[in-house]
Amino acid sequence: MREKKRTILVVDDTETNIDILLNLLGDDYDVTVALSGENALEIADTESLDLILLDIMMPKMDGYEVCKILKANEKTKDIPVIFITAKTDEDSIERAYEVGGIDYVTKPFKPRELTARVKTQLNLKFLIEHLEFIASYDEMTGIYNRRKFFELAEKRFEFNADDLYVAMIDIDKFKLINDMYGHPTGDAVIRKVTQTISEHLESELIFGRLGGEEFAIVCNSQSLDEITKKLELIRVAVSSFELRSDNNESIKCTISAGYAKAKSETKNLDALLKEADVALYEAKGSGRNRVIFRS
Ligand SMILES: [Mg+2]
Repeated sequence: MREKKRTILVVDDTETNIDILLNLLGDDYDVTVALSGENALEIADTESLDLILLDIMMPKMDGYEVCKILKANEKTKDIPVIFITAKTDEDSIERAYEVGGIDYVTKPFKPRELTARVKTQLNLKFLIEHLEFIASYDEMTGIYNRRKFFELAEKRFEFNADDLYVAMIDIDKFKLINDMYGHPTGDAVIRKVTQTISEHLESELIFGRLGGEEFAIVCNSQSLDEITKKLELIRVAVSSFELRSDNNESIKCTISAGYAKAKSETKNLDALLKEADVALYEAKGSGRNRVIFRS
């Protein structure tokens, strides 16, 4: 399913152990090594890792300590950690799970068991990533779905509401397009509108499909003028494209947009969205194919 090899960080203060693990895993995975806990933390913080094999007994910082720090860091907390240990007493094993380890293998290594455990954890991680993707993105358009949009937008509101804008965008008379040309063509229109909007947005903007033919954008900006120009550009770009129906009829569409800026009295994201929605309603009511700011 993936062309890129999965990356594993092997952490052990004994070089012979590192050599064994490199031998066992080096052909199938992209393996990086660290000889100390400190070094492991540096690597985990800078590189993208799929799994960490972590020795427990190391001088200065032991594996438990390393794992605790990994699990407390937003960037590294989801990397599965398998402990490698010569300790087989129950206390040590219990502790390995307590600090956030997901599994453990004992030294001396049993090669087939080790590779099976590694494979199992990588498969699980892949499955989790896949489920997160499905739960976050709209299947038809590939942009954020409603749930993920609200999650990110609420975070953004809490982080910095000072110069935060919300725009609501709706395809005009979309029901007519569906009724006249059928749903597959309606879907094609939604995809084309999404693509057109995306082409005008920077990556730090939050852009999602709220449902049906309705989209929303959340962004911070110093300039109302800049936002207005951008939404106008999007509006014109959408009104300029043309799709062909199955019978080769020309299909054109327009969008209406309403946008609003958070004020000191704006209580939460919902309140801001409501403001933008009122502006959108106004855009629809005053003839559509227009962009209206709610001040
Ligand atoms: Mg050791």
